[in-house]
This record gives sequence, C-alpha cells and structure tokens, in this order.
Amino acid sequence: MFDKAILVLRGVGQIAAFLSAMLSRSISFRLKLLRHSLTSSTAPPAGEPLNIVIIGASIAGYHAASTIAANLPPWLGYRVVVVEPRDHFHFTWVLPRFCVVEGHEHKAFIPYAGHLPAGSLDDGPGGAPSKVAWVRDRVASISPTAVRLAAGGADIPYAFLVVATGAGAGDALPNRVPADGKAEGLELLRRMQARIRDAADLVVVGGGAAGVELATDAKSKYPDKRVTLVHSRDAVMHRFGPRLQAAARDGIDALGVRLVTGDRVVSEDKDRRVAVLKSGREIPCDCLINCTGQRPDARLVAALSPASVSATTGHVLVRPTMQVRDPALPNVYACGDVCAPDPEEDSTAVVAQPNSRSAMRQAMVAAFNVLDAAEGRAPSNVYRPNWFDGVIKLTLGLDKSVSSVGDGKTELLFRAKDKDVALMVDGVWKRLGATPFEDDDTFLSKVKTKI
Ligand SMILES: Cc1cc2nc3c(=O)[nH]c(=O)nc-3n(C[C@H](O)[C@H](O)[C@H](O)COP(=O)(O)OP(=O)(O)OC[C@H]3O[C@@H](n4cnc5c(N)ncnc54)[C@H](O)[C@@H]3O)c2cc1C
Repeated sequence: MFDKAILVLRGVGQIAAFLSAMLSRSISFRLKLLRHSLTSSTAPPAGEPLNIVIIGASIAGYHAASTIAANLPPWLGYRVVVVEPRDHFHFTWVLPRFCVVEGHEHKAFIPYAGHLPAGSLDDGPGGAPSKVAWVRDRVASISPTAVRLAAGGADIPYAFLVVATGAGAGDALPNRVPADGKAEGLELLRRMQARIRDAADLVVVGGGAAGVELATDAKSKYPDKRVTLVHSRDAVMHRFGPRLQAAARDGIDALGVRLVTGDRVVSEDKDRRVAVLKSGREIPCDCLINCTGQRPDARLVAALSPASVSATTGHVLVRPTMQVRDPALPNVYACGDVCAPDPEEDSTAVVAQPNSRSAMRQAMVAAFNVLDAAEGRAPSNVYRPNWFDGVIKLTLGLDKSVSSVGDGKTELLFRAKDKDVALMVDGVWKRLGATPFEDDDTFLSKVKTKI
C-alpha cells in the first residue's frame, strides 16, 4: 500500500515538475508578447515570413503547432506551416470500439482548427500572411532546407522543421483509419462494423491493446459469435506489467473469447473458411482482423539522414531537446510515435509504449526549443521519458475496463465499470476546441494546397 502511494506521488510529482517548467516557458513568452505590444510595434517585418514547418497534425504535430502559434513573437517574422493530408483529426483511442459498435463512428473525426489560437488561419491586416498556414497535402521528401509536397511537387522552404509523422505506415483499422477524407473513413469503419456483424467466426490477430479491445468488444456485443484472439507471445499485453496481463486474460476468459497464445496466423483460406496457424492448427474463420504491425513512419528522415533512424526499431533518434541526432540538422526536430531517445545520448532512457501523453510532452519541448532558437538562443528544454506516461486504460468488453500504471517494479491496477459506449470522446472534442459532435467545415475553406 505504502509502495503504491509513493509510486503515485512520484509519478504525479515528476509530471507536475515538467508541466510547471513548460508553463513557465509559456508565461515568459506571453509576458514578452504583452511587454512588446505595450512598448513597441509588434508588426512582423516586411517580406515573406520564415517557415516553421510541421509535418503531420495528429497528437504530436497538432500540439506542437498550437504551442508555437500561441507563443510566437510576431516581430520575429516567422509563421507556422502545417502539412497534413487528413481533413479531420483522427482520434485513435476509440477506433477498436467504433469498429464494432455502430452509430458513433463520426465521433472519431474531430474538426481541426479549434486547438489553434483563434484567428491563426486568417490573413493579417492588408493581406499579411496568417500566423498559421495549413496545407492539405503529404510531404514526399525533405532536404536540409525545404519540404517537397507530394501532390503538386512544390517546395516549401523551412527555417525549422518538426517531423510528427507518427506510426502506422500502411496500417489499417483498427489501429489507424487508412483514408485522408472523413467520408471515406466513415465508410471504412461502417464496412468493418458490417464484416464483424455478419461474421460467425471472428479471428483477431494480435494481443496488444487494439486486439484485446476489439475481440472483447465484439464478444460483448455479439455473445453468440465465436471470437478467437491469436497472439504470438505467451501472454496478451506482454509489453505491460504482469498484473495487467492477468487482468486482460481474466476479462477475455470471462467473456468467452478463445485465446491462442504462442502461435501466429500465417494465412487465411477463404474457401475453406479457416485461419491457418504456424503450428499447422486451423481455426474456423470467416472474418480475420489484423491488429498488429504499427511501425514508426520515419521514411522522410531516413532518406535525408539514414544515421538518424534506428536500424532496429525504425524510430527517428532524438536528443533530449527533440532535435534529431544528426548534428548537421540542428533545426530539425521530431516528436510523437515516430521518434525515440537516442541511446547514445541517454542509455537509461526507457522507450514507453507509444502514447499520447509522451507525444504531447515531446511536442511541447520541441515547440519551446523552436521558439528559443527562433529568438537566437540554444534549445535548452529537455524531454525525459517517464513511466507515468505509460498509464493505460484497457477496455474489456463494452462496460468494463482496467487501468494500469507501473514503474517496472510496482504496478497499480484500477478496475472500472464504464457507462459511455463512446468512451467519453466528447471530452476530447472539447479539449481540441470543437463542439461535440458538430462538424465544422469553415476550417476546410482556409486550407491551402500550396503556399
Ligand atoms: C487503437 C489505438 C488506441 C490507442 N489508445 C491510446 C490510449 O488510450 N492512450 C494513449 O495515451 N495513447 C493511445 N494510443 C497511442 C496514440 O494514439 C499515439 O501515441 C498517438 O496517436 C501518437 O501521435 P503522433 O502525432 O505521434 O502520430 P500519429 O497519431 O500516428 O499521426 C501521424 C500524423 O502524421 C500525418 N502524416 C504521416 N505522414 C505524413 C507525411 N508524409 N506528410 C504529412 N503528414 C503526414 C498523418 O496523417 C497523421 O495525422 C492508441 C493508439 C491506437 C492505435
């Protein structure tokens, strides 16, 4: 009991120390903005602004963009340029649930813009450039000075670059929505719901969080279906502590999901309606859903600076300042699922499971370091991985969940009964400045295809 109290206090203390450091950075920038607006002109210098380009606007990139835009001194002559192909923010946490439960899928697509400071996308007085330019495109390649857009091939020069391309390259539901437009994304989710609804023998591959959640949701909603979860390791949730592994297994058993561990699906024979396992065993299957295979999407950095990408994990390796490890690219930063601490800088750094808290903290560090560098100071804010970021809430059917946090020695579990089938996603809409669940296309009218 004492251990647990200490664990919670330590975690809360470390996060509070980080947040207060970031808050003090923000206050210092805001005071500077205020002082400047009272004493001198805050008008940007004449001419084209210098670009702070952010690639990807999910948890990490969107947070970096909003932090920089909120604190950027206009007299420095910079603007934020976000390049993102999606027309809405995709909220990943609810995807396994919305692959099963019908009628809520629109809630996974949150309108952009509300998380940016008001008016950021509007042109300034006399047609001056907006504080944030939002380009709906994909970056095809990067050089030390510019990013090249995939759709028109245009180059956007940058003074600073933040790479936030995340994980899940070539991925599919339920880990990511493989569509840039909301309309297509809704269609894909509805098709997945129909496949699950119409199946008699559902086989889910991968006993990480997405696989466990999808399998237990499906069995919880359709108790008469046969649902099998196949996992290559000996225990589901093997990257987490033993208490969470056991709780997940209990939840799976209680619902009647069949669990196969230590084996993997090697093929699906659609004619015979079976999934074939490596061991040779066959499992009845008329719907196979793959929940494995998230990889960091580090292709852009790998092409520019191969030594900045880990040969083993595929992450962009970053210093504690979130600058990529390549000393020739001091103005290139990375944050979120795409990156991991460079072990040569910090051999003790534990790489947490990809999660949104780390992504946001990294984004804040990258953002304040870009702001410092734009003012001519050396980046000095640092991100240290913290086990407390790895807290996870795992659903085990439509009305139960278990949350876990641990530092590798002590592990805490919290069980809960859940009432909201939409997993309280309305709170995330509000945090991102959107009104649940009203779509808003004013943002799209301000989006550019090039700048
Ligand atoms: C099913 C599921 C459930 C999860 N649940 C939780 C949870 O409960 N709690 C938690 O903390 N975390 C959870 N996570 C993890 C969390 O979603 C990730 O850590 C988070 O999304 C990482 O954000 P990111 O911005 O780094 O990358 P991503 O979310 O992967 O986004 C990358 C962005 O980059 C854009 N992009 C990619 N390539 C390009 C390019 N070439 N040009 C321009 N843009 C590009 C993409 O369109 C996308 O918007 C979950 C993840 C999954 C898959």
